[in-house]
Amino acid sequence: MTVTVSFEFFPPKTPELEESLWRSIRRLEPLKPTFVSVTYGAGGSTQERTRNTVKKILDTTKLTPVAHLTCVGSSKDQIKSIAQEYWDSGIKHILALRGDPPADIKNFQPHPEGYHHASELVTGLKTIADFDIAVAAFPEGHPESKDLESDTINLKKKIDAGASKAITQFFFDNDLFYKLRDRCRKHKVNCELIPGIMPVSNFVQMQNFAKGAGASVPTWLAKQFEGLEEDPDTRKLVAATIAAKQVEDLVKNGVEHIHFYTLNRADLSFAICHMLGLRTN
Ligand SMILES: Cc1cc2nc3c(=O)[nH]c(=O)nc-3n(C[C@H](O)[C@H](O)[C@H](O)COP(=O)(O)OP(=O)(O)OC[C@H]3O[C@@H](n4cnc5c(N)ncnc54)[C@H](O)[C@@H]3O)c2cc1C
Repeated sequence: MTVTVSFEFFPPKTPELEESLWRSIRRLEPLKPTFVSVTYGAGGSTQERTRNTVKKILDTTKLTPVAHLTCVGSSKDQIKSIAQEYWDSGIKHILALRGDPPADIKNFQPHPEGYHHASELVTGLKTIADFDIAVAAFPEGHPESKDLESDTINLKKKIDAGASKAITQFFFDNDLFYKLRDRCRKHKVNCELIPGIMPVSNFVQMQNFAKGAGASVPTWLAKQFEGLEEDPDTRKLVAATIAAKQVEDLVKNGVEHIHFYTLNRADLSFAICHMLGLRTN
């Protein structure tokens, strides 16, 4: 079985970061990912940069870009005009999200004339054009969900509204993913369920991401990075080994597509893809 892959990038803030993003895109492009996705900053803060990056990918590469789009801070009309512009310029794939509030605000507040939940955004997008829509899934449950069952029911709502695939938050214990897959089967969530993998080269930074994302960091993982704070080269080798083992187990258990959170760096994702058997020719 050939495994397929996809990569997530974030829109760069400075010319230096722009250069490093494009080096990464060019390095990963020959692996022929099914799609590459571009995030939308918390609070909708990177709207313009996301649009520019997605359009540049469409115009200058052979890749299929997926634009992340959130409900935060936008009215339904504003979302409509962004989505229409995407469709008209050939961007037909969207990752539809509720989004998180900006860092200084605790709880999500919908725009008074906006969408309250990702499922509503999916419905709204489908009335604009026949986008191929992905949504978010959470192996450990979204932090605001009452329990895992209601979390799965919310995922079902998003799929029933018209999404075709769900990409998970990152996780390190594959059983969490397998249990989510079982819950999806039980609730008849009919979609492709794609595991999101975060190769961890900076353990401290990843711990901060995990806190906000409701992802747990197992003790065994922390132990693997113990004492390597000042040793980025060894950290990288450890990170590639851990992620390769995780991905290998997923593939053994029937997973056919892996999504990598690249953090705009190609090296780890490239190495893991190589170990998965992907080649650039
Ligand atoms: C693959 C992936 C990519 C991401 N990319 C981005 C990004 O680019 N930009 C960004 O800002 N964030 C991003 N996020 C984070 C995401 O926006 C947050 O996790 C956000 O808090 C939830 O988004 P959602 O789309 O899952 O929301 P929803 O599906 O709306 O769910 C959010 C919460 O509301 C609850 N809920 C839903 N509907 C109802 C209802 N009718 N009544 C009561 N409760 C309800 C759900 O159970 C859940 O607890 C990403 C997450 C993932 C997994």
